Parts: sequence; structure tokens; C-alpha cells
Amino acid sequence: MKKLTIVVPAFNEEEMLPISMNKLLEIEDRLIKDELITSDSDVMVVNDGSKDKTWEVITKLHKENSRIKGIKFSRNFGHQNALIAGLDIAIKETDMIVTIDADLQDDPEAIIEMVKKANEGTDIVYAVRNNRDTDSWFKKNTAGAFYKFLNLLGVKLVDNHADFRLMTKRAVETLLSYKERNLFLRGLVPLLGYKTDKIYYKRGTREAGETKYPLKKMLSFAWEGLTSFSIAPVRLISIFGILASLVGVFMLIYTVITKLMGDTSQGWSSLMISIWMLGGLQMLSLGVIGEYIGKITLEVKNRPRYIIEEILK
Ligand code: UDP
Ligand code: MG
Repeated sequence: MKKLTIVVPAFNEEEMLPISMNKLLEIEDRLIKDELITSDSDVMVVNDGSKDKTWEVITKLHKENSRIKGIKFSRNFGHQNALIAGLDIAIKETDMIVTIDADLQDDPEAIIEMVKKANEGTDIVYAVRNNRDTDSWFKKNTAGAFYKFLNLLGVKLVDNHADFRLMTKRAVETLLSYKERNLFLRGLVPLLGYKTDKIYYKRGTREAGETKYPLKKMLSFAWEGLTSFSIAPVRLISIFGILASLVGVFMLIYTVITKLMGDTSQGWSSLMISIWMLGGLQMLSLGVIGEYIGKITLEVKNRPRYIIEEILK
């Protein structure tokens, strides 16, 4: 039998944690009873620099039940880093890990099916939602377009899968050997290979508290996914550049011919338009190239992905 650890990132989740911990432990209890996981299976909450009483809640839950463990970050490092920290710490003492959000929008009942698949020898089980009804119209459409766009650029993602997945020990260890700072886990995991499978679930609504992903975080997450996994934007710029110079050559030939045919030169407006358009294009190109250089700077610095202040085990 194998030990299961459920890793839960939490940022300002004081209202949600008592409910979700209760539910997750209850699911583990059922799995334990059916002898699908060992009886020391646990839940690890990563407190991502919450501003509310999340850590106090985790400490209290840990006292009541030592199967609830906690990691406290020294400040907010973001969802993806909270997940990585949980995997990093938990994998030393467990055989498989399920990652799930604290709000339980992802149906925790699906964990049962995931564990069964893992016990049959699957290394990575993706939970895929079969509806987006509970997302706002805006989120549904922007997310859909974003995934299509990434696919177009050649980034392989599992459709409608967020960070709700099970990974066995060797899959987690392989994932941890990817040392990049710019983390976009749902792009990385499909690169690991191994035996993978999917299970389907219905996504619900957040029971308590509100989304910790405001538009600003969502946009930065999307940008991260795009530029960490694809150098297509830089290539696109080269193509733009080649096209622009071809237009320039064409215009040169055209002016020489009109000149030879005796026309006076007019073209002040066309000149101005070209200058502005090319200038704009160049600035845009520099911006995108700068973005990649910025990424290189971040990676080269090799800063820690997270800093832990306290651990409850
Ligand atoms: N979260 C986190 N750090 C952050 C933002 C969010 O650890 O900076 C956690 C949050 O507590 C939750 C999960 O990431 O467990 C997903 O956040 P949320 O449910 O608010 O996102 P949504 O479902 O609205 O996309
Ligand atoms: Mg949520």
C-alpha cells in the first residue's frame, strides 16, 4: 500500500480551510478503509503569506489532528510556488501527491478515482473538468482563447485541466528536477512523459471567501505561460522584420520607376506613415526581446522559489 499526501496551497483561506480539511480527511479516511492508501496518509497546507488568520487556523487544525501538516511561507510567493514547495517538502515522506485548491471548486471526490488509477500503475492522473458553467463569462472565454493560442504556439497543455492532479513519487521527483524560476506547472507536467491518464469531474463554485486570482494575477499567469514555454513571439518579430524590409525594397523599386517615368516626388505622408509604423514595430520588438532577457536575468540569479518560515509536521 502507498501513502497519499494531499497538497493544498492557501492564500487568505481562513473561512475555507476548516471546511476543506474536513472534507479531504474524510475522503482519505474512506480510501484508508478500502485499503487503497496507508493509514498515515496526510494533508499538507502551504500558507502562501496570507494576510488573514489562515496560519492560526492551520495550527489549530494541526493540534486537533496531526494528519494535517502545514508550511508557512515568509511572504506571498504565488500559487505555483506554493504548489512546488508542497511537492518538494511532502515527497520526502510520501509515495504519491494530489494537489488541489483550498476552495474545493475541484470536486475532491475525484481523488478516489485518481488513487485507483495510481494503484494500477499510472504515474500522472490529470483531473479534467467537463464544464465551465461556474466560471464567469469573462473567465470562460478568456481562458478558452488563451489555451487555444498556446496550443497554436506549440505549448502542449491538457484541455480544461488546472492544477488538480495526482503524481507518483518518481513523477514528482522528475518535476522537481526542472529548476526554472518562471513556473507554469500545467505546461511542465506534460513534458515529463510516464504513464498518464485523465479523469473527469464537474467543477463547482467556491463555497466561502472570494477568488484569490484577480484579473492582474490572471494576466501575469497567462503571460508567464506564454513566454516561459514558447519563443514564438520572438520568431514572429523576425518574420515581421523580414516582411517590413520586403515592403521597403518594393517601395524603393516603385519610386525609382515613377521617377524614371518623370513624376515629381510627393510622398511626404507615406514617409511619415512608414517611419511611425516601423518605429512602433521596432519598439514592440524590443519590448518582447526585453521580456525574454528579463526572464534570463531571473533564471540566472537562481533565487529561491520560496522561503519557509515555519513547518508543522
Ligand atoms: N493561492 C495561493 N497564492 C496566491 C493566490 C492563490 O496559494 O497568491 C491559492 C488559493 O488559496 C487557492 C488556489 O491558489 O487555494 C486557487 O486560487 P483561487 O481559487 O482563488 O483561484 P480561482 O479558482 O478563482 O482561479
Ligand atoms: Mg478557485
